[in-house]
Amino acid sequence: MERFYIAFNRFDAYLVLHRLQQAGIPAHVFNEHMQSIVGDVPPDVAQPQVWLERPADRSRAETVLAALHAERQKTGSVRCTSCGEDNPANFEICWKCGRGL
Ligand SMILES: [Zn+2]
Repeated sequence: MERFYIAFNRFDAYLVLHRLQQAGIPAHVFNEHMQSIVGDVPPDVAQPQVWLERPADRSRAETVLAALHAERQKTGSVRCTSCGEDNPANFEICWKCGRGL
């Protein structure tokens, strides 16, 4: 196991985890509940972390993460083809009806 990414929050951690799994990279989220357990640790220790099962996957995982960050740079919105609702461009599924964007 090897630490790969320190997330901003739990949602961010799971977004990265999901992308890694989609790419066939086994990974796990740790620390997701740490903030409620220990109050006095520095934020970088308490934040959720994504760990890779196989250190050999790191370079591929970096590519996945870079693609995710590039998507976040995009502004604007995406219109759901199912219900017509506007969603932030970085959303993967429609917040209203749950269909993939
Ligand atoms: Zn929708």
